[in-house]
Amino acid sequence: MTIFSRSSAVDKIHTPATEAEQAKVLLSRRGFCLCCIASGTFAATGWLTPREVFAKAQGIVDMIKSEAAKASIDVTKLRNNVSVLMGSGGNIAVLNGPDGKVLIDAGIGVSKEHMITALDGLGKEPITTLINTHWHFDHADGNDWLHSAGATIYGHENTRKHLSEAQRVDDWDYNFPAAPSGGIPTKILGDATEMKLNGETLLIKYYGPSHTDGDLSIYFAEADILHTGDTFWNGIYPFIDYSTGGSIDGAIKAAKANVEMTTDKSIVIPGHGPIGTQADLVAFRDMLVTIRDNVAALKAKGRSLDETIAAKPTAAFDDKWGKFVIDPAFFTRLVYHGI
Ligand SMILES: [Zn+2]
Repeated sequence: MTIFSRSSAVDKIHTPATEAEQAKVLLSRRGFCLCCIASGTFAATGWLTPREVFAKAQGIVDMIKSEAAKASIDVTKLRNNVSVLMGSGGNIAVLNGPDGKVLIDAGIGVSKEHMITALDGLGKEPITTLINTHWHFDHADGNDWLHSAGATIYGHENTRKHLSEAQRVDDWDYNFPAAPSGGIPTKILGDATEMKLNGETLLIKYYGPSHTDGDLSIYFAEADILHTGDTFWNGIYPFIDYSTGGSIDGAIKAAKANVEMTTDKSIVIPGHGPIGTQADLVAFRDMLVTIRDNVAALKAKGRSLDETIAAKPTAAFDDKWGKFVIDPAFFTRLVYHGI
């Protein structure tokens, strides 16, 4: 267990030269996910046939699962009774106290034993509550075991819908089966909900379509901690899931909302990457806005996707944001898609 500290580890990652090296680097990093790895592979391998991409994604899912099964979980105490767990997909927040453990996101199911060890280390209280920020595998795959362990699952209606049915994500060329019935949220959260648990006021808001069409923010009011789900990746170009309602303009709207929900005293838990601050949210917002403008200007001149990528509209940001899973070309493609 560590105390709250910031990390700039992401900034130090080198750009892997080969796909094999890239996969190795990715899997050696903590808190990473199916979406980014599959996307990174796609970017690294170029325009493969759907069958080839599918075969690679398939292999990588298995690799991620076996790595996640082995990885221990890092526990960091943030403020009041709120901690963050890293090492099983997206970052997981835990609010502990007499009302039982409240989790924001569930990680990947194969991490169960390591998750139990990490959660037991926070106290003997039972697991009672789980809130999903969105439906993606690396945030909700652990829903079923957490439900069996006692959690009532909350989520947006679109998260419930996506987990209830098989999903295809085109940018990963991947088909996900429906979640088991225990892994589907039974409590649906609307535009804004206030919950009082363990002496904290949880303010839960729907962003509107952004990273997906079901993204929620969770703000712990007394602790002044915001969990953004995947509307914020700290120091990393984000994935945007157009297959289930995400878009660059929605992502920018959410990035602006995150800045407005915080002050310079706030602690920010991103979906991926190290714990951040409001200044990191501002940098992320400005990066998205500038790259969107650059790509829009090229598209307005009639540039094709390949010509737009060749013009390097992300160049000023690549040193900071583009050296990890979603590379500059892939991120350009995601932005171009939405303009
Ligand atoms: Zn996601």
